[in-house]
Amino acid sequence: MSIRVRFAPSPTGNLHLGTARAALFNWLFARRTGGTLILRIEDTDMKRSETAFEASILQGLEWLGIDYDEGPDKPGSTGPYRQSERMVDGAYNSVAQALIASGHAYRCFCTPEELDAERAHADASSRPYVYSQKCAKLTADERNARLAAGTTHTIRFMIPATAGIIAFDDIIRGHLEFDSQLLGDFVMIKSDGSPSYNFAVVVDDIHMQISHVIRGEDHISNTPRQILVYQALDKAIPLFAHLPMILGPDRSKLSKRHGATNVIDYKAEGYLGTAMVNYLALLGWSPPDEKEIRSVAEISDLFELERVNKSGAIFDLKKLRWMNAQYIRQFSADALLAQIIPVLSPAISSGFLAHSPATQLAMIQLVHDNFELVPEVNIALKVFFLNDTEYKSMLDAFTFSAEDRLVAQAFLNQVSTATTFDDAVVAQLLETVKTETGFGTGKVFKPLRKICSGYESGPHISTVISLLGAECIQDRLKRFLSA
Ligand code: GLU
Repeated sequence: MSIRVRFAPSPTGNLHLGTARAALFNWLFARRTGGTLILRIEDTDMKRSETAFEASILQGLEWLGIDYDEGPDKPGSTGPYRQSERMVDGAYNSVAQALIASGHAYRCFCTPEELDAERAHADASSRPYVYSQKCAKLTADERNARLAAGTTHTIRFMIPATAGIIAFDDIIRGHLEFDSQLLGDFVMIKSDGSPSYNFAVVVDDIHMQISHVIRGEDHISNTPRQILVYQALDKAIPLFAHLPMILGPDRSKLSKRHGATNVIDYKAEGYLGTAMVNYLALLGWSPPDEKEIRSVAEISDLFELERVNKSGAIFDLKKLRWMNAQYIRQFSADALLAQIIPVLSPAISSGFLAHSPATQLAMIQLVHDNFELVPEVNIALKVFFLNDTEYKSMLDAFTFSAEDRLVAQAFLNQVSTATTFDDAVVAQLLETVKTETGFGTGKVFKPLRKICSGYESGPHISTVISLLGAECIQDRLKRFLSA
């Protein structure tokens, strides 16, 4: 059996984490097994589908590096892969007509008011609502009269009275059973002529020869209905793998309040696509070893649906940030420089770019491990680009002792005599201050860090001082001593 899977987003919203994860797991499975991944746009909900959302979904997939083998606008694809286009071709209607002819479906002329009344009646007697099958019992004459009068109608699938228990073995969830008599005759073709999700998905999965349906757990309850459609059409049923829900840290369903809902927003916030993919892969899937940081190629070599957990996967933003920082650390200074230049804030940018490439690289190297999101480089680099007012107000927040003044004076003497000012020279000057004053490292470094940089803590002090430059340091020490 050749492996064919599909990712079938509805363009009724942006690509959110759950759908991105479903796309990724389909992609990993296809790549691992040498199968084919199809992108199918499920846009039959004409009111809510928007081409802008389709574009946004594609943009999100591209950022994550999830490509597909067949799909809309993919060269060589035989499509169409948009349900709206398949609908125009009559793909769903012809199958619906065949199901009516074979006695598996019927036209339903019930009005929304009639259906509401049925539902209210079931609610009042605390029964789960299933459609009464009123229209299945119409005589041919009654039906033809309604059709001749042009009465709007839907087409419903008829759950066979003999269907009993519908069972399937989910690759992730194991054996699942459903009582078919609780499903109710569901709508396959809506009154506007468009197919319902449960019907279109089966028609398309058959047409596209899908072997494995990998999707979110929220579709488990749809699966028995879909299985009945396969059976009515006498077609092979694919294997199913339902992915666990993604939950917020409070274990509730992931929602807007847990963070950005459009995957591409994470890019704007400074997350790297590579880190995001690595993180998403671990939302439900666990590698055979403990190693968490690995490339998507490495993950696809290991990926197995059998290793996807049943229980919900918690989305932990702190962990994602941590993972992003690991990916930032993997960059060479040059590569990081290319990433950060576009995100430099106006307060940093001109000063930073005025430095020589060697100094820029030295600054980057110094702060390389100190930020988790790319734009946070602005916070890390700020130490080099404080304006006078900022520096002064930071300095004013500290209190200094007479000993600190002594240290400052001793260091100023050293700096004034230095002819070069690289990292090693500054380290040597600091050692001389220690010897001259007889103070230990803490007593020398702590006040000098505050006076020279305005910060209480930060990266390696001699490098910070040397990168700030002798002129700036002398100026700050003199102003401190004369205050
Ligand atoms: N369009 C459906 C969704 O976005 C697809 C579900 C499926 O994969 O069957 O949830």
